[in-house]
Amino acid sequence: MTRRSWSLAWMADPGRFQVLFSVLYAIDVGLRVIFGSRFGLLSGPGLGLVGAVVLLVLAVVVPWDRVDPRWALVMPIGSIAVVGVTRLAPEGGNGLLAVFPALWLGRQWGRLGAVIAGVSTVLFLVVPGAVYSNGDHVMVPRVLFIALVVVVAALVVADGMERVQVHEGTIEHQRRVSQAIFDTVDVGLLLLDRDGHYVGMNRRHQEFMEVGYPQGHAGQAGQLGEVFDVDGRTLMASDRMPTHRASQGEEFDDVRMWIGEEPATRRALSVSARTVRTEDGEFAGAALAYTDVTDFMRALQVKDEFVALVSHELRTPLTSIVGYVQLLEEDDTMPPHAVEQLRVVHRNAERLRRLIGDLLDTAQRDGSPMPITRTQADLAGIVVDSVEAARPVADSAGIDLVLSSPERLPVRMDAQRIAQVVDNLVSNAIKYTEPGGRVTVQLGTDLDWVEIQVADTGIGIAPDDCERLFTRFFRTEDAARRAVAGAGLGLSITKDIVESHGGRIDVDSAVGQGSVFRVRMPR
Ligand code: ADP
Repeated sequence: MTRRSWSLAWMADPGRFQVLFSVLYAIDVGLRVIFGSRFGLLSGPGLGLVGAVVLLVLAVVVPWDRVDPRWALVMPIGSIAVVGVTRLAPEGGNGLLAVFPALWLGRQWGRLGAVIAGVSTVLFLVVPGAVYSNGDHVMVPRVLFIALVVVVAALVVADGMERVQVHEGTIEHQRRVSQAIFDTVDVGLLLLDRDGHYVGMNRRHQEFMEVGYPQGHAGQAGQLGEVFDVDGRTLMASDRMPTHRASQGEEFDDVRMWIGEEPATRRALSVSARTVRTEDGEFAGAALAYTDVTDFMRALQVKDEFVALVSHELRTPLTSIVGYVQLLEEDDTMPPHAVEQLRVVHRNAERLRRLIGDLLDTAQRDGSPMPITRTQADLAGIVVDSVEAARPVADSAGIDLVLSSPERLPVRMDAQRIAQVVDNLVSNAIKYTEPGGRVTVQLGTDLDWVEIQVADTGIGIAPDDCERLFTRFFRTEDAARRAVAGAGLGLSITKDIVESHGGRIDVDSAVGQGSVFRVRMPR
């Protein structure tokens, strides 16, 4: 609902104002006649009436919007004269009628108008009043008082108008400033009304519209165009369009998409939306911001392609290195000190293989869900294997590794991926715990859920870092400072695996005291 403010704008037209004056004047004269006043045409009131009629005719026939505004002064001054003349009789008119033209003078001519109103009142009311008073000592102060009221009324209106003009000036200035900002920012801005109609956009967004809708746009949210999903290939469906979602009252950040088919000119955009509400909290529309992230997306693409290529080229020779090292380790003819050295080679080659696997995983699935193949497998066995595989590292680091698990726990899952989850959490817990510490792995279950908990007494994680822990390449400053080996990929992959199994991962931690990672998954 729009609220309309009561406006005096119509008063600017001298014609309309005069009509209203004539009505009031007629009421005044009419009432006097009804209550017994009688006067001839050549009396004061008679002449006044004639004057009022002449002014009314002028008001109606003169095209006021085309004549010099100074001519319009004839109307209020004439009206004051009509009031003055009408009073030149014992049954005279109401002097307060002069206030009405004074209001118009104040509105149109400001303080000068108040002066004109005052002078006219003195000339046409006070002077004739004094002459006509015939010794009636009340008459003079009465007309003087009317003159005072007239001037005050004109001044009040003049002052009000001045304030309104200042206010309007400020609003206009602010409008221009906003428009300049709107057009200067390097972000496309779009406003929608509650029905999803486009109600405004800045210059930058117009440029985006030309790329995304070369055929033109009807100004309604959700129109199909050359708008693609983040993969750059799938045409975006109407109900997935940011404008459509925003017009349904949804708020979001960093929704990515590509616009334009032409490889040279197509752009990647990141879109955010916020709803606009009325004072009563009703949905009134939405504001959307489109940031050009083409360079960023291209850089990401190049990086991912590069990582994928390099990882693949590294993985193949590593696999054969690990295979042959294993054969040599198992060879009985090898001297013991060589076997010891081969184990070091083996361990490091395995670490390299894991890192390359993580890089490949990260680069190949940019934002897309992790593909998993579920089979029935024993989660308890996976956890035991993982803990036992980590035991030599824990032992050599002087860390007590404790496991509590049921005998068997069959779960439908991607066994290899879940093993990766447990490996990651256990190896992190050992890596980030000082010698003498303890790592506890617990496997629990109820009817529908399984829970893997890995707790340590290690260096801990600050609350702010806990929120970013699962993002790619994130490492805490503490981890980097202690030069603990790692790339910051393990937890982001762990989270993807857990979520693609319909589960979640949480962390509780206190700096210097230790951390607890909890994975919950449906059975
Ligand atoms: P990284 O290879 O660096 O260990 P992760 O993704 O597994 O990568 O972990 C990300 C970061 O989270 C680590 O660099 C470390 O700062 C922090 N972190 C992970 N696990 C723990 C833990 N158990 N205790 C303290 N910090 C941890």
